[in-house]
Amino acid sequence: MELAERVQSLTPSSTLAITAKAKALKKEGHDVIGLAAGEPDFNTPEHIIQAAKKAMDEGKTKYTPSGGLPELKQQIQKKFKRDQNLEYRENELIVTIGAKHALFTLFQVLLNPGDEVIVPTPYWVSYPEQIKLAQGKPVFVEAQEDNEFKLTPEQVEQAITDRTKAIIINSPSNPTGVIYSREELQAIGDVCLKHNITIVSDEIYEKLIYGEHHHISIAQLSDKLKESTVIINGVSKSHSMTGWRIGYAAGNETIIKAMTNLASHSTSNPTSISQYGALAAYSASEEEVNKMKEAFGERLEKLYQWVTDLPGVSCVKPKGAFYLFPNVKEAAAACGYDEVFDWVEALLEEEKVALVPGSGFGAPENVRLSYATSLDQLEEAAKRIKRFIEKHQ
Ligand code: PLP
Repeated sequence: MELAERVQSLTPSSTLAITAKAKALKKEGHDVIGLAAGEPDFNTPEHIIQAAKKAMDEGKTKYTPSGGLPELKQQIQKKFKRDQNLEYRENELIVTIGAKHALFTLFQVLLNPGDEVIVPTPYWVSYPEQIKLAQGKPVFVEAQEDNEFKLTPEQVEQAITDRTKAIIINSPSNPTGVIYSREELQAIGDVCLKHNITIVSDEIYEKLIYGEHHHISIAQLSDKLKESTVIINGVSKSHSMTGWRIGYAAGNETIIKAMTNLASHSTSNPTSISQYGALAAYSASEEEVNKMKEAFGERLEKLYQWVTDLPGVSCVKPKGAFYLFPNVKEAAAACGYDEVFDWVEALLEEEKVALVPGSGFGAPENVRLSYATSLDQLEEAAKRIKRFIEKHQ
């Protein structure tokens, strides 16, 4: 039996591959420290769990409208108004099965065969695959490490062809943790407006920004940019709700309508119970969100110090998300490894520390460390990496 061409070139997620290997080692009884995870290590806040239980008890276990519960959309509207002073009508919003599904559906309704999407490198692993599944073509543009992994407007201008349909902006970024400033977003936005390009603004890490920095959405910069942008967001990272699978998209009515139609024939609706959970998350104050953010912020400061103290390792300091994305090329070379990928594998085998090789994000000299784990574990991981480097030098 031959599978359809569209899935034959799909590459499995590198994040999941290393996590699986780490899990297998753990099962064999090894003391593995996993820094590969892409999800907060906190429990979902209790009031959200109670709201979902109540929804079940009250029989709210049936189909909902495909685009999501109107009352949840109303809370999302309030959130946009409060956080970005953005106003979306109900028909400009769709609730989806996680942010991943919002992106998938968006590319399906946006792209014709051969349409190009500008993807800044390093990128989140699913963007290229989702674009290809929609018969589009990812056009990778390398955001330079010495520009804090941020695209410049000149780079965007150069990458544009008459097939360019969209660009992805992911701020804060997975894997680099960098955020774009208002001015940087404005400059890129101007180029996009000039060429009539849709901006896909993935803001899933919006709530996880540290220090005095804060989140800016490109859509809030002008009415024209709002009209050209589809914002992707969700509760997975902000409320530690990865398994609940609730995300959403906000944008132009025509696009949202097409996404809702597609969802109505593919998924019907996001799980009703999870939607009530998300409703509780967005109806409450952000106390719990801020507590998690504080813990992440503390870990970032410590881990950044430990990692940049390692010989042969340099790192752009992240301002958001929960990842560090250091360049370890020199450290790997000093240990006798030409490929960072092989160094990562050896580290897992010898010292039982799981990192994600940067190759999966289009940056083969780097590795991604997630700090969604306790400070004790992070400190122990840093010690083990140091020991590994020193042993092999
Ligand atoms: N976008 C980025 C940049 C991510 O890192 C992730 C999850 O890892 C997602 C989207 C998907 O989030 P969700 O779990 O809501 O589907």
